[in-house]
Amino acid sequence: MAEILPQDAALDPACRLLLAGELVAIPTETVYGLAADATNGEAVARIFEVKGRPRFNPLIAHVADRKMAEAIAAFSPLAERLAQAFWPGPLTLVLPHRAGSGIHPLVTAGLGTIALRCPKGFGRDVIERIGRPLAAPSANISGRVTGTTAEAVDKALGGRIGLIVDGGPTPVGLESSILKVAEEGLFLLRPGGLAVEEIERVAGQPVLRGAKGVEAPGMLASHYAPAARIRLDAAEVFPGEALLAFGPTRARGAERAAALLNLSPSGDLREAAANLFSHLSALDASGAATIAVEPVPGHGLGEAINDRLARAAAPRDSGREGT
Ligand code: AMP
Ligand code: MG
Repeated sequence: MAEILPQDAALDPACRLLLAGELVAIPTETVYGLAADATNGEAVARIFEVKGRPRFNPLIAHVADRKMAEAIAAFSPLAERLAQAFWPGPLTLVLPHRAGSGIHPLVTAGLGTIALRCPKGFGRDVIERIGRPLAAPSANISGRVTGTTAEAVDKALGGRIGLIVDGGPTPVGLESSILKVAEEGLFLLRPGGLAVEEIERVAGQPVLRGAKGVEAPGMLASHYAPAARIRLDAAEVFPGEALLAFGPTRARGAERAAALLNLSPSGDLREAAANLFSHLSALDASGAATIAVEPVPGHGLGEAINDRLARAAAPRDSGREGT
C-alpha cells in the first residue's frame, strides 16, 4: 500500500525515491502526476506498467525552469515568448528535441520532438531539488478518470506505488494544453487548462487545430518508422538480417546476424521496454535491410512492446528494401 504524505513533509522522501528509480505520485496545478526520473529507462517503463498503458505513447517531460528546458529542446523566439508568458503553468510545448539531452527514448517514443512543461508547486520543487526532468502522465489507470485528489490517486494506484504526495485538490483540474511550436505555425495537439485565446494573445498568431500533416497525439502510430523492414516472431535469422533478441535462448542462425542486440537477456519486460527504442534505432542504423525480431510475450509491458513492434512492422510505401 502506498504511503500518503502531506506535501510539506514529502520533499525529501519523494526526491530519494525518484533518484532511486521509483515512481511517486505528485500534485501539480493541473492533475496528479505519476512521476519517474525521465533519464532512467526502467523507471519510465514502470510508468507504462503501473498505468496499464497498452501503448508507448510519448510522455511529457517536466522541468524546473527554462534553463533545464533549453538543455533538452530547441526554443524558437516564439517558443521562448510562450514559455516566458505561461511557465510555470498548464501549457506543454512540443519542440525539437536536442541530441544528448539525457532524456530516455521511451519518454519521446523515439520521436524527434519532445513535449515539455514547467509545472507549479510541489512537482517543480522536486525537479529543482533533484536537478533532473520528470516524466509524469496523469496518475490514473489508463483509460480511467484522471486523479485530482490524493484519495482518488490512492484508490486507483495505491496498491502499485510506494508514495503519494498529498497537495490537496489540484487547482486547475484539467490536463495541460499541448501546443506544437513548428516553423509552419502553432498547432493545438490537446486542449487543456490554458485557453487557446490566451495563447493566441501572446503569440500574436492563430493556433491551428487538427491541421493536416501534423502529428496529432492519436496519429502517433506512424511515428517510429525504421528504414529497415521488421520481421516479427522470427524463429530463424536469414543471411544479412539484423536480430533484435529477447530472453536467454536465440533464434536459429543467430550467429550469422549482421548485428544483434538483446532487449533483455534475462527476459525481463521492464528492461526490454526501456531498451526498445534505442535498440531498434541502433539496429536500423546498422544498415541491415531487415531486422528479425524474436517473439516477445504479450503479458504486462509485453502488450505495449508488441504494439510498437507491430506498428514498426506495418507495410509502408518506402523502406530500405528495394531502394
Ligand atoms: P500524458 O502523458 O497522459 O499527459 O499525455 C501526454 C500527451 O502528449 C499525449 O497525448 C501525447 O501523445 C502527447 N505528446 C507527448 N510528446 C509528444 C510529441 N513529441 N509530439 C506530439 N505529441 C506528444
Ligand atoms: Mg492521462
